[in-house]
Amino acid sequence: MSHDYPGERYIRPAGRLPEIDTRLRVALIYPDTYYTGMSNLGVQAVYGLLDERTPYAPDLFFYQSDFGLYRHRDAARKHSQVRLSDYDIVAFSIPYELQYLNVRRILAAHGIGLAPDDRAGTPVIVAGGIPVTANPLPLSGLIDLAFIGEAEGAFPPFLDDVLHVLPQLKSPQGADARDELLARWHGRPGFWRPQTGGDMPRHTLADLNDYDTVSRIVTPRTVFANRMLIQIARGCAARCKFCLAGHATAPLRLLSKDAIGERAALARDVTNRIGVIASAPTDHPDIADITATLVDDGFNVSFSSLRLSSLTDEMVQCLLRSGQRTVTIAPEVLDENCRKIIGKPFPTNAEILARTRAFLEAGVPRVKYYFMLGFSFEDDAYIARLAQWLGELDAAAQELRPKGEPPLTFAFSFFVPKAQTPFELEPMPARTELQHRRKVLKASFSGRSRLKFESPAWSLLQERLSRGGSDVADIIEFLASERLATSRVNAAIERFNIEHSAAHPQRVWPALR
Ligand code: SF4
Repeated sequence: MSHDYPGERYIRPAGRLPEIDTRLRVALIYPDTYYTGMSNLGVQAVYGLLDERTPYAPDLFFYQSDFGLYRHRDAARKHSQVRLSDYDIVAFSIPYELQYLNVRRILAAHGIGLAPDDRAGTPVIVAGGIPVTANPLPLSGLIDLAFIGEAEGAFPPFLDDVLHVLPQLKSPQGADARDELLARWHGRPGFWRPQTGGDMPRHTLADLNDYDTVSRIVTPRTVFANRMLIQIARGCAARCKFCLAGHATAPLRLLSKDAIGERAALARDVTNRIGVIASAPTDHPDIADITATLVDDGFNVSFSSLRLSSLTDEMVQCLLRSGQRTVTIAPEVLDENCRKIIGKPFPTNAEILARTRAFLEAGVPRVKYYFMLGFSFEDDAYIARLAQWLGELDAAAQELRPKGEPPLTFAFSFFVPKAQTPFELEPMPARTELQHRRKVLKASFSGRSRLKFESPAWSLLQERLSRGGSDVADIIEFLASERLATSRVNAAIERFNIEHSAAHPQRVWPALR
């Protein structure tokens, strides 16, 4: 157990290999802050995979525009002398498209070539994560290999091979050796070289029980503070038509009940707080039993999300005991008919209203609802009916909590069509249309509850980073060169004609096998 940074505690489920091989230097980078990265089980799992199952102990980095690359805010000075060019492999773990800008910033700040031909003799650059699995083309100039799918079982042999050819990579003929290495790995499950193209072979872990997908570092300085996260499932049975996570992580695989108990036991000496993570944790067939056992064992349990139809009273009690202040519900759209169109046949509006009342009566401080705007079936009449439905929820809250801060928040994002989903070729409306829908909704809703909206401009940018080709490199360069503000995003939308491409999508991304 290490105490490198205040309050951090380490969990090493499988122990560590006895020998550390320092000949291969691996930098694992989450291209965003420590605060967000420490609650990201993707980067935590890759860190654990490399740290425990290979001899190549990785250095783990985060990024913040004010500090550059760092391990932790307190350690910024310590790491200010780090040069990525000293590493042999730089692996980015990327959960969101907007982090592509930071990938470019990091490479540029460390003098790494921003085009494949300029990188001979420098680290091999690899990137993985859900958006990369869906469409790595926007990053194609910045990376040598995209990692497609899940790293467990696939990434360690690649590291062994890089170590094997390291002398050649560092020799005067390094460019040829690098080319041979990348050509050798392109097309193996999980590896795809953008410069070569073709279908993308996804690597999928067959049995979740073979790997410990839990937090390796438990820390107070993160969203899930002092909580060990356990992933109990990958994939999602629902596979809603708009949801990239539901498609890029398919098929649904479950961790057994016994394995969940074993993972929870790892937390014993570190924390009594556990976060149960999955696309839909309450879809696990044993979730009620698992929850009861964890609670009986003295754990404070919280869930990454809840599906109303499979929620038990015990889970609601867990939520309250775990100190979770906000319960989230994702109706997405107006009603069951519209949910059918987007492939999400739940929850029903009756369930939403009944659960809202039950949450408020049970003492849940805040309920937050996630909706989307921007679908082709919307018109002004739809928005008016939506406002009316929000009004019914708001009225229930006023009846049950007449005083104090309104407990309900309706958070609206704009539907961003994603590559590799059934909606991948849906058009996305222009900013003026999205602003119009937002304006009509605001004007039609008269309740006390808060309405929150994401920015139309940022949503359009996200669309381009999701469905764009290698030409998106110009947009990334334009945006990464300055501190990001909405005015700069609007300038990019004009300059690169993003509204036109969003409204007339072309399938440029490779097929996923
Ligand atoms: S239920 Fe949630 S996680 Fe699953 S596919 Fe639908 S939106 Fe995605």
